[in-house]
Amino acid sequence: MEDERKSYHCSFCGKSEEDVDGLLKSPFVEGTYICQDCTKLSLERFRQNEERMRVKSSNLKNDELYINLMAPRKIKKLLDQYVIGQDNAKKVLSVAVYNHYKRVINKDTGKYDDVDLDKSNILMLGPTGSGKTLLAKTLAEIINVPFVIADATSMTQAGYVGEDVENMLASLIKAANDDVKKAQKGIIYIDEIDKIAKKANISGRDASGEGVQQSLLKVMEGTVAHVPPKGGKKIPNQDFITIDTKDILFICGGAFVELDKIVDSRQNSSSIGFDSNIAFNNKKYSQKMSGLIPEDFVQYGLIPEFVGRLPIVVVLDPLTEDDLTKILTEPKNALIKQLQKLLHWDGVDLEFEESAITTVAKLALERETGARGLKSIVENAILNLMYDVPSDSNIKKVVITKDCILGNASPLIIRESSVESEI
Ligand code: ADP
Repeated sequence: MEDERKSYHCSFCGKSEEDVDGLLKSPFVEGTYICQDCTKLSLERFRQNEERMRVKSSNLKNDELYINLMAPRKIKKLLDQYVIGQDNAKKVLSVAVYNHYKRVINKDTGKYDDVDLDKSNILMLGPTGSGKTLLAKTLAEIINVPFVIADATSMTQAGYVGEDVENMLASLIKAANDDVKKAQKGIIYIDEIDKIAKKANISGRDASGEGVQQSLLKVMEGTVAHVPPKGGKKIPNQDFITIDTKDILFICGGAFVELDKIVDSRQNSSSIGFDSNIAFNNKKYSQKMSGLIPEDFVQYGLIPEFVGRLPIVVVLDPLTEDDLTKILTEPKNALIKQLQKLLHWDGVDLEFEESAITTVAKLALERETGARGLKSIVENAILNLMYDVPSDSNIKKVVITKDCILGNASPLIIRESSVESEI
């Protein structure tokens, strides 16, 4: 017995029970112990790590303490809770956003004060419904900065900082609850940026996009703009709000349909004697795009100065059936979880059979609208249910089957008396 007791050792430092101030036994792994010293040391290490994850608070200016900057790894971990797949894009974005805000909120410390850091706006490309907007929005929420979505297609041609650009800035000020200082550190997501490509060299786009690109150039790089309050029309003698855009992070997103053809033909023309076309077509979208160079965007119709303002390029992949299935069930705000919560308040358990979930994913995949299609498919299938349930207190449980998704059957209803029926 005595010998057995002596064999208790700290699994971290190896010291025996007699040499330490007590050992803690792991409730999970048999024969695993930790001593008090190692426990203290671990806690200290965790604390230091956490501190390292935040930018040193002494470097933050007082009015920027609200910015919740954390290490890229932590940002990615939080993104994982809301965005399925797109692993590489999440990594690149986490690093880009971390570096942007590090640049924005750190004071000069004496060393490297004469080094200017370039602003790095982001260009995100990937199919519709693959999570571009969701990523930008979630990043803003994580970092806790104001966020707006602007639509490039609604912007009019202007050779200077025009009305629409001002509206976009006014919306950001509004999103910051009229706190201009906060707005100056916000994120603007400009959607459908590919639609302002200037030439009709691919799918019939007109030339007016060049003017919009020109007007965006200045604000993206950093300018002091004068915005009418609340984004309204310019009224003579009206007081304008002055906003400096140098610290606003611009993320531009677009599907860039057929950009891969430009990349492919450029790469093909430079590779002789090898059937790179077949190899190219068999690759994943993001792999095909890994050879992307700024000139490809210029060929697509973006002007070189505009491409130059977007030095970080993030490529998203089309979502697979497996991704779509996970999107329905896994994120914190997954559609099925939301519906279950809604019906729970009516005292009803909502169950989706596995085959029903995969059928929704398959149908969405066929529609080629990415995850956007999921909601309408599910909502179509359960419309009557959402209508009837609140008026029928006998319903205890509802089961959504594959046939129900395909429109061939109604949801299975289980009532208080445990009699099954269909609505
Ligand atoms: P995009 O901007 O690429 O066209 P969105 O980000 O607007 O697509 O996606 C539309 C909706 O689809 C989002 O609100 C979200 O619910 C869902 N979605 C898209 N992609 C993902 C993803 N990768 N993970 C989780 N949900 C997603």
